[in-house]
Amino acid sequence: MPAMNDHDSRQRFLFDGTDIRGEITSLATSYQTLVAQQQYPEPVAKLFGEFLVAASLLSATLKFSGIVTIQAMGNGPLSAIMAECSQGTKLRGIVRGDFDAGSKAKCLQDFLGNASLAITIEPEGGERYQGIVPMESDNLSGCLEHYFNQSEQLPTQIKISADKQLATGVLVQQMPNRDTAEKVAADWAHISALMQTLQAEEQLSLSHAEQLYRLFHEDGVRLFEPEALHFFCSCSRQRTEQALISLGSEEIYDICKEQGSVQITCEFCNEKYEFHKNHVDDMFSKPPPIIH
Ligand SMILES: [Zn+2]
Repeated sequence: MPAMNDHDSRQRFLFDGTDIRGEITSLATSYQTLVAQQQYPEPVAKLFGEFLVAASLLSATLKFSGIVTIQAMGNGPLSAIMAECSQGTKLRGIVRGDFDAGSKAKCLQDFLGNASLAITIEPEGGERYQGIVPMESDNLSGCLEHYFNQSEQLPTQIKISADKQLATGVLVQQMPNRDTAEKVAADWAHISALMQTLQAEEQLSLSHAEQLYRLFHEDGVRLFEPEALHFFCSCSRQRTEQALISLGSEEIYDICKEQGSVQITCEFCNEKYEFHKNHVDDMFSKPPPIIH
């Protein structure tokens, strides 16, 4: 088992004398909590775990605080899979579709059919932007490498593995720098060749430090302090209320009349919000909220 302190954490690493950076992350409790809430069968859970790890790794590459969302919409057994990492450390996500049929899938295309991957970045207080990546690889890491190479023009290698308990991944990335093109190319060829030797069994059984030592012990690798990651759903009674208000009073009063109250279950965390008629009256008699 990986050392306890690696669970639900992410660590940056750097190599002395190069401009290659890395991130390594392992999700245990956060991953298991999300899977248990929706009771995904193991193959679906593992793919979902990969998406969560990817969101965590991508979030670490941002220079600012914000929300990273990785989402695939397809026409396979799974119709959608989504993972979100906000403020670098908070994870949530969801899978939709026929989980039983999805359980027979072997690769990304089996799960999602004809799909593309959308990577959305919302900087705090800034404008959101989205990159669409065709699913040209049969695994998520390959698709993300393609995204970084094409849209960001940063050579990147990613390895993600998941089992029932743990979802874990490593990213190495060439940063823009002032070295000569020859040195940059040689450094990258060396580090990426070593990365390719990393096996899923090693990722799932070794600590972050052990994995990096095994791969890069001759390359002056420096591992930074871990950052804790956790499952966090940003839903609240107030946000649910705002969503209801946006549907309009007529629709909400109709539901209220039909069902006695309006009940909303958060699709991310299963939290239940119930609004009785007197709440609904309050909701629509209040002045519109001030948006901060
Ligand atoms: Zn929620």
